[in-house]
Amino acid sequence: MDTNLVVYNTLTRKKEKFEPINPPFVGMYVCGPTVYSDVHLGNSRTFISFDIIYRYLAHLGYKVRYVRNITDAGHLEGDRDEGEDKFAKKAKLEKLEPMEVVQKYTIGFHDVMRIFNTLSPSIEPTATGHISEQIEMVKEIIDNGYAYEVGGTVYFDVEKYNKDYPYGQLTNRKLEDLLEGTRELSGQDEKKGRLDFALWIKAKPETLMKWPSPWGWGFPGWHIECSAMSTKYLGETFDIHGGGMDLQATHHTNEIAQSQACNNTTPVKYWMHTNMLTVNGARMSKSAGNGFLPRELFTGDHPLLERGYSPMVVRFFMAQSHYRSTLDFSNEALQAAEKGFQKLIKAGETLHKLTAASESTVTINEIKTKCYQAMDDDFNTPVLIAHLFDLVRIINSVNDGKEKLSQSDLEEAKKLYQSFVFDVLGLQQELLESTENSGLTGDLIDLILNLRLEAKKNKDFATADKIRDELTEKGVKIKDTKDGFEWEIE
Ligand code: AMP
Ligand code: ZN
Repeated sequence: MDTNLVVYNTLTRKKEKFEPINPPFVGMYVCGPTVYSDVHLGNSRTFISFDIIYRYLAHLGYKVRYVRNITDAGHLEGDRDEGEDKFAKKAKLEKLEPMEVVQKYTIGFHDVMRIFNTLSPSIEPTATGHISEQIEMVKEIIDNGYAYEVGGTVYFDVEKYNKDYPYGQLTNRKLEDLLEGTRELSGQDEKKGRLDFALWIKAKPETLMKWPSPWGWGFPGWHIECSAMSTKYLGETFDIHGGGMDLQATHHTNEIAQSQACNNTTPVKYWMHTNMLTVNGARMSKSAGNGFLPRELFTGDHPLLERGYSPMVVRFFMAQSHYRSTLDFSNEALQAAEKGFQKLIKAGETLHKLTAASESTVTINEIKTKCYQAMDDDFNTPVLIAHLFDLVRIINSVNDGKEKLSQSDLEEAKKLYQSFVFDVLGLQQELLESTENSGLTGDLIDLILNLRLEAKKNKDFATADKIRDELTEKGVKIKDTKDGFEWEIE
């Protein structure tokens, strides 16, 4: 299988031709959410970016196994294997069992993903569901000489590892520089080296989430879950590993070290990282308190928001920037995105009403080539959108009678629109709130109106009128035409 796709690899800091290990299969692992609180809009940006990447790979014909984990254990407050367990802390605060916390925020995450029209991953494994795999991996790393146990806690020996493999490779840093930037060990520290990190952590008497292990009761460190689950579901070496850029220096650097130390092979061919969503230039994060929730964005119920914006407008806003660029949130940018999105969707409606001419005065093929070139160039969605607006201009000119499209070009334009607007960018035609609340979708309205057409053909005018009245009540304006019907939302 041959495509022209080129991806930027964080590991080599270069754009590389995408050549999967075992085409047409592609293994893709994305670090999922830590479910001790609601996902904010920044997290959503990362997952929406990988959704578009997943969609485009599938569109090109790759058979993608997309694994996105749920982190439901093993997260301490500090990055240094210390502090309180975030799940236990939240459980105490909300007077819930830790697994109730996990359940609540996993459901919330899924709701947000559905509202943003992201496709479900092929496998969504949880850290708590893979404790034995993590223990096995830790055992293997100890056996291979890259980890050691101190009083029930197991640490990864970074300096030992670095003698055999380049530890800071992902962020292009040498061990000496990393050591320089890290606090000296104190007399109380158990670890041997100051960069060493925990693979397994001994439980304290008050620890709520703990499991038996060869080193006593404890729980996994933050990074081992992703090494264990990616190896289990995608193999020792797989194609794509992704996550937000903030994960490069610690989480992904440690993941590479663990997997290499366990499996004696480089785990990932292409490392891909999304850039951050910022608010007034500062990264949106749970801890900074500037992380507003998707639900607040939709309702407008947040001091930073002038009003609410619909999920598809937000998705379009995100697609307007490249996944490796920062994206700064502002009301003005969202309002501009709203106008752009509506223009794009309206042109799609117009496209389906156009009639073909005997010959075309404009060409669709050129735009199609440019759309593929944009996405082949490391998933360049802003350039893709610019080309889609060339298509919008053509559609509107044909509608105004200034240009013409032949039957085959018209079909090509419809295919192009469907492929890139709906299938790849994952946008959906939105209905107004009145119909959203009633559960009606465009497809459903078409289906009901076709049934009404049937009823009319069978001279069952009572049913036909009832359908019309009920849809009208729900805000759907129906116009009977020579060939059937047209409708719009009032
Ligand atoms: P977390 O739930 O904190 O583990 O984060 C889930 C994902 O969201 C990770 O891949 C993070 O890198 C990513 N992420 C966190 N903050 C942001 C942000 N402001 N913009 C984009 N992605 C983010
Ligand atoms: Zn991870």
